[in-house]
Amino acid sequence: MEVNSIIGNDSALAAVSAMIDGGRTPHSLVIYGEKGLGKKTLAAYIAAKLLCRSPANTPCGVCKSCRAVFGGGHPDFIRVIPSLKSGAYKLEDLRQVVSDCAVAPNESSVKVYLIADMDKTPLGSQNALLKLIEEPPDHAVIIMTACARECFLPTVLSRVISVGMVPVSRSQCERYLVETLHKSPEQAHTAAEAMGGNIGRCEEFLNGGRLAAAAETAISVAAAISSGSEYELLRAFWSCDGDREQALLVLKLLREILRDAAVIRLGDRNDLLGCSQKCAEALAESLSGRKLAALVGIPERYISAINGNANLTLCLSAVCADIKSIV
Ligand SMILES: [Zn+2]
Repeated sequence: MEVNSIIGNDSALAAVSAMIDGGRTPHSLVIYGEKGLGKKTLAAYIAAKLLCRSPANTPCGVCKSCRAVFGGGHPDFIRVIPSLKSGAYKLEDLRQVVSDCAVAPNESSVKVYLIADMDKTPLGSQNALLKLIEEPPDHAVIIMTACARECFLPTVLSRVISVGMVPVSRSQCERYLVETLHKSPEQAHTAAEAMGGNIGRCEEFLNGGRLAAAAETAISVAAAISSGSEYELLRAFWSCDGDREQALLVLKLLREILRDAAVIRLGDRNDLLGCSQKCAEALAESLSGRKLAALVGIPERYISAINGNANLTLCLSAVCADIKSIV
């Protein structure tokens, strides 16, 4: 991770930088936005800006401090680790942050805590942070990240500065993939086409693995919906093969394709999010606006059910049945 690895999100970056440069460093922040948009990168950037030893133009990206922040080894940039396997923080994890905050920084004048990915943390545990984020010690900066702003207690949100991250434009994304990640222009184009301006997801997509496989399945499902082939629909979902995480990913990507189709149907092509514009267009052409609107709600319903531990096989069969009843 480097200083120049934040692209897009100019307004988020400018707002935070202006606060720090103007001597109004926010001591409690929430950075939110979908996975892959650079929330943790922005948090590291803020930490580097506060801990950088360069007299001007912070973060310089080259001093010992900056390198330690971006390399993950600065003693005053503390990445809090959740103790639960699920990735959720226990009450005790957050209480430890509170007590550690009372201790002076190790080698600088500031201590920055990153409590990342708080989506799964129970609301009750967040209570442990209330007093701290309301009146943090002068030397402490607490940065929390999550996909959804709604996962925080209202009492937390009312005490922090919230920063929302958004996908960058496809062309910005492609340029970054080519110039910084050294992908070929063709690879960059395919990834940006599939994952929109979400750089983290593009990177994951190009590295193969789950996301690429899920995108392929979601595209097969969408194609089966346009062609009305029930067999292809079932076959596509079977490829999830009892893997809950994979099924969730497929449903999320399918939700975006269906949403794009509904948006295209309304005559708007400027704001597409999904992994296949081609599939969204085919759906918009083959189905009425009313049918598309009904379809959009299906993945959401089963994402909640699967998250709530419903039987995966039954859920996927029900998804197919629901889709069939509409198209
Ligand atoms: Zn520096």
